[in-house]
Amino acid sequence: MPQNPLYDSDLDLHSLIAKNSFGTFFGVPQTVFDQVWQNLTAKDGNSVVYISMEIGADPDVFHPIKDRLIDIERTDSMDSALKQFTKKLFYGPEKIPCYGGGLGVLAGDSLKSFADCRIPVVAVSLLYRYGYFCQIVDSKIGQICQTVDWHPEQVPGLYLLRNPQNPEEPLHIQIPFFNEYDQETIASAQVWMKMEVNHSLDFFVPELLLDFSLLDNPAPIRDAAGKLYNSDSSFIKATQRRMLGTGILPVLQALGITSNTLHLNEQHGVVVALQLIAEELQATLKHADFSQASDEQIMTAADKVSRRLVYTIHTPVKAGHDRFDKSVYAGMSHKSCRHILELLAHDVDSPHSYNFTTFAMRVNRAANSVSRLHRDVTHKQFPEAAGKITAITNGVHHLTWISDARAEVFDAFSELDNWREDPGVFQKAALLKNNSRFRTYLSRAWAKDSSTLYDYINSMLLQHRNQMTSTWIDPPNYYSNLIDSDNQLDPAIFTIGFARRFSTYKRADLVFDNIDTLCAILVENNWPVNFIFSGKAHPADEPGKSVIKLILDYQEELHTKSKGLANLIFIPNYDMQIAKMMVAGVHIWLNNPKRPLEASGTSGMKAALNGVPNFSIMDGWWAEGYHDGATGWKFGHEGPVDQADLSESPETLFYTEDSASFYQKLPAVLDEFYEDDSRSRFLDKAIMNLSLNIPIFNTHRMAAEYLNKYKLKLSPSLQRKMDNFAALYNSNQ
Ligand SMILES: *Cc1c(COP(=O)(O)O)cnc(C)c1O
Repeated sequence: MPQNPLYDSDLDLHSLIAKNSFGTFFGVPQTVFDQVWQNLTAKDGNSVVYISMEIGADPDVFHPIKDRLIDIERTDSMDSALKQFTKKLFYGPEKIPCYGGGLGVLAGDSLKSFADCRIPVVAVSLLYRYGYFCQIVDSKIGQICQTVDWHPEQVPGLYLLRNPQNPEEPLHIQIPFFNEYDQETIASAQVWMKMEVNHSLDFFVPELLLDFSLLDNPAPIRDAAGKLYNSDSSFIKATQRRMLGTGILPVLQALGITSNTLHLNEQHGVVVALQLIAEELQATLKHADFSQASDEQIMTAADKVSRRLVYTIHTPVKAGHDRFDKSVYAGMSHKSCRHILELLAHDVDSPHSYNFTTFAMRVNRAANSVSRLHRDVTHKQFPEAAGKITAITNGVHHLTWISDARAEVFDAFSELDNWREDPGVFQKAALLKNNSRFRTYLSRAWAKDSSTLYDYINSMLLQHRNQMTSTWIDPPNYYSNLIDSDNQLDPAIFTIGFARRFSTYKRADLVFDNIDTLCAILVENNWPVNFIFSGKAHPADEPGKSVIKLILDYQEELHTKSKGLANLIFIPNYDMQIAKMMVAGVHIWLNNPKRPLEASGTSGMKAALNGVPNFSIMDGWWAEGYHDGATGWKFGHEGPVDQADLSESPETLFYTEDSASFYQKLPAVLDEFYEDDSRSRFLDKAIMNLSLNIPIFNTHRMAAEYLNKYKLKLSPSLQRKMDNFAALYNSNQ
């Protein structure tokens, strides 16, 4: 890397300002900017559009530009052109609010790996003026949803693109909507750009965020532009999907982006396929009105469009599949599109609905699931598409999720040289298994990360205790009644982490199904345990919210019945920062969904990257990451997937069976952690996670497997590098 001028401490910050006709941007040199733009606008279309409802990439968790400026101690500048960038970069004041969950974080992690690997990709998503929601938790009420108020103008690194014809004005794209009488209204969107810059500041992936909140837009459009996953009505929900799907081609055209391949990260943006089919028909019929197209002409057009689309399906859970009443969809799209939807989006369960998952499943050249087990489930759910659905197991961005303390350890061992560029290097971590210096350093780093987590928790509990008198909120943790300077939670106590969306199939309350049994195990052996839980439920998900309330309700009973040995703490407002603290600071990561409904799950991978073992149901990625017990523990039901019941209804959630299995396995885990003569086996599992799981469950490997579907032409050296990542694992085995 010495060739890179950006590593030079004399770096002229001006060299990080780049311009084009859409604006002025900070973070990469002009040459890099031009190269990326040239790739995306080249005639050959050798690039990919990545389409996602949400993109989760929190700059407080991974921010290579800021890190570099801190490294070279250039956090401020006297120069006014630079000052506007650096000041905002370091002092915010705002950032894009954290979005819904796993899907968005996966999108962010994927784009960061594409940037690291220098793959020409551009992402399209929506900008939500009211984010998702901010979670407040009250012990009597449970989850309270608060609207997020944020200002994109105040966000460092988020740029409003300019209109090249009139640089004083923002760029606008126009999208026709129709009412049920087929009368047209035009909605406009402005376009924000965020750059996902790689860690060597020599490549980036642009994210284009369409913002439909403009005052001139019809009220229903503005409403739908407000909140991610707003499901107040199916009309709002459908409008949101349509804004994304029909916004894609106009924004690409406005920027001159030519990508041949479009990747649907879940079916939310599938309306783009409808647009492309419509364009094909207009070309075939040589007429703007394609309502007379025959079935055969439509199917031929769909075939052609399929060759441009790659589709990733993310969940077997029905709520994740968009289905809209035909009348709802008729209220926004032109009637000539209905014939296409009739043919391609018909819903076998309901003749009155369009099924967008079916549509996406039919119109693509490659479809994939997000783990092996999930592949088998999708084959069962979509038998007609089984031939083309392969598995590409999800990953996480290792540079985002490995803690600073762990990274310092990895840097200190030559066996792991180059781990930032190549996560495959960690295969060699097994060579360090008997290296006592490595073992000591790793244990110390782990203890440091546990202290960081507990500092956060203890000060949160104290703060809640102190605020009790001044607000109407009842602190969400029973332990806030107990904490004082002599009574803080101790980071050396065995700590179980659980954090994710609260959705009923994820069964957050499973391990408390029989508190008497649980407490008997702990009391009998005098084993202290802390359970650290976090996560949001969708505002409309009443059963999900009631699980949060249950968790709060169990706290006192658990504390009392365990004679103070067990404490259950809930951290409100789960986001990527809390996730990063938890996955590095706990001693074990717990996931207990109803198998096989957790298509992949990624938080457990984040723990594994830090060498934290998982203790989980054999579902999603863990069925691949468990390695016969070398990396952690399993519990619960493991029936054949083709006979599995995919329902989420309460009577089919197997609480009794799976919690009993947890109680049966728990003593072995605690024994290994607490007994002096077996503690070293606990650390062995940590090291085997580094060695066996980092090379697999990272987004560089995942990006390489997607490249096989994208069919991009890459330089021979880049192709070799990506082939090496792909060779780390074959998801579809
Ligand atoms: C990783 C992550 C998730 C996804 O966790 P799962 O285990 O896949 O459910 C959700 N939210 C945040 C903030 C995350 O960082």
